Amino acid sequence: MSHADQTAALLEYRGVSKEYGRGDNKVCALRNLDLTIRRGDFVSIMGPSGSGKSTLLNLGAGLDFATSGVVSAFGQDLASIGNAKLARMRAERIAVIFQFFNLLDTLTAEENVAMPLRTRRLPRTEVDERVADALAAVDMSHRARHYAEQLSGGEMQRVAIARALATQAELILADEPTGNLDTLRGESVLELLKRTTEDRGCAVVLVTHDLQAASYGDRIVTLRDGKIADIARGTQ
Ligand code: ADP
Ligand code: MG
Repeated sequence: MSHADQTAALLEYRGVSKEYGRGDNKVCALRNLDLTIRRGDFVSIMGPSGSGKSTLLNLGAGLDFATSGVVSAFGQDLASIGNAKLARMRAERIAVIFQFFNLLDTLTAEENVAMPLRTRRLPRTEVDERVADALAAVDMSHRARHYAEQLSGGEMQRVAIARALATQAELILADEPTGNLDTLRGESVLELLKRTTEDRGCAVVLVTHDLQAASYGDRIVTLRDGKIADIARGTQ
């Protein structure tokens, strides 16, 4: 980390608008949005349902593209780098924690966490070590050999968080990652994410509708109708 540029933008939205559908069905999910996320940042995104939070996250992950404006990650415009580079960036540098986990039911907890590492052809011993560390970090070591479908919602959520941590991605994008956790577990996950930004110098974007969770962010960005309505400082 010592040589990394602390001020480098990891994720940047410049004049970003996103429309879904057309004609009478057209929905404007983001409107001319500007936002910069740097190394070490923990940014919380709040706002009512339908305000554009998930859209913001999906564009940042390169899962979908802006209608106008530019979304760049690690200095590269996601819409123009091409499929191969984008796929590689998404596999190695960006981790997404989805609201509904996206675990594979027929794999165990540890196989789910290992999956993104296997596709990167990391050495077996390193995969095993990262998987064990990540499951331990979310207090799920005792469920490592359980199939995802045998886990509770909260346990699945913790496995999804472990899967993101194990990638050691520089950018972690999380959609309501504590929505299924009780208060204590939720706090421990948020502290873990916060520590990760501090220790590894990565950045976390946390979508949440819980003000207590959002307060872990250095910045709390409130979206309303696809626009930034407010930016506040976190308090934790
Ligand atoms: P949030 O996550 O804040 O609830 P979203 O980003 O999911 O908001 O949605 C913003 C707006 O875009 C909403 O009006 C939603 O209905 C619409 N929207 C989101 N995804 C799609 C889609 N795939 N097709 C059409 N409309 C969509
Ligand atoms: Mg959403």
